[in-house]
Parts: sequence; C-alpha cells; structure tokens
Amino acid sequence: MARYREPLCRLCRRDGEKLFLKGQRCLTDKCAIERRKYGPGQHGQRRAKLSDYAIQLKEKQKVRRSYGLMEGQFRKYFAEANRRRGVTGELLLQYLELRLDNVVHKMGLAANRNQARQLIGHGHFLVNGVKVNIPSFRVKAGDKIGVVESSKAVGCIQESLSRVSHAGVPRWLEIDVNQMQGKVLHAPARDDIQIDVKEQLIVEFYSR
Ligand code: SF4
Repeated sequence: MARYREPLCRLCRRDGEKLFLKGQRCLTDKCAIERRKYGPGQHGQRRAKLSDYAIQLKEKQKVRRSYGLMEGQFRKYFAEANRRRGVTGELLLQYLELRLDNVVHKMGLAANRNQARQLIGHGHFLVNGVKVNIPSFRVKAGDKIGVVESSKAVGCIQESLSRVSHAGVPRWLEIDVNQMQGKVLHAPARDDIQIDVKEQLIVEFYSR
C-alpha cells in the first residue's frame, strides 16, 4: 500500500497547524510548528487570501494527513460514508477512527499512527485473539485488541504504554496497561472524536 514518505513536519507546516504525527515530539518545543510558523519552501511565508475551494481543500487535506492516508483511500472512505444513511461528515470521521492503526495509537500501544501502522504490519497485534496485520482493519464495538505474547517485550510498545494516562484514552476505548490489552466499548460519536475540523467542508469539497 502506497504511503507518504516525505518529512511529516512539512505536512503540519503546510497546513499551518499541528497534526500530531510524531507522538511525543509534537508536545515539545522541538515541534517544527513551534519553531517555524509558516509554510515550507521558498514561498512559504507568503500570505494569500484563501478561496472557498482552498478552504475546503485545506480541511480535507488536514484530516487525510492526520490519519496518514493517500487520496485514493481517503476518497473510498468518503464514498462509503456518502452511501450510508446518516451524517456523511460524521460517518467519515467515525470510519477513520475505527481503523486498527488509529485504535492501537489511541489506546497508547503506539506513539503515533505511523508507528502503529508499522507495528500492525509486522504482526504484533491481535483482534479478538486473532493476529491482524492490516492497518486499515475496521474494529467494532466489543472487539478486544491485544499484543501477541512474543511481542510484549517490544521496546516501543512498552515505552508507549508507560506514558498512557487513563485521562488521555478516549472514552469509547479502554486499556488495561498490565495486560497490554484494550477494548472498543462503542463506536465513537462526533463528540468523542477530538480533531479540530469542520467535516462539512470535506463533504462540500467532494460534492463540487
Ligand atoms: Fe507536526 Fe508533530 Fe512535527 Fe510538530 S512535531 S510539526 S505536530 S509532526
């Protein structure tokens, strides 16, 4: 599966806000946004008035980049959300949140979504006792996410779990740090999804 391989901080600088793509580093003053609050490249410091289209595009890119998806994958999520009954923007965010790589990261089993994706690809996680190595796997309410027995000593999983505070785990998930196992309590409602985005702008972007 194709994925973005360029510097991640560049994406945040282009969007002009923190996308939290690098785990702990994002919370320190080493964050590129803290140090250079302007876009990357030669013309990064130019200020242009954004058109409606540019605002919609920016919002879509922000969400797509936050979840580490390529355009084709993101568009498929939108198409599915658009087909289903309900509020399209909210369904889109819900599908993204229910990706296994996001859930592993939110439970504190990985420092960021990129690391979660890599760990999942290497077969370190179980869903309901079965090894799953597909980062886009969609979990559902009641699913139990665990670490493969032989992977419980993996340094980055242990390090990430050592930083877990229960206040930081979304209320639709629970994690038992000692057992290295978590559970999906229910699908996230819009209020549970902590991303500063106007999803209606994404719907408008794809509805042009
Ligand atoms: Fe974005 Fe994190 Fe890099 Fe800051 S450190 S620019 S939040 S990826």
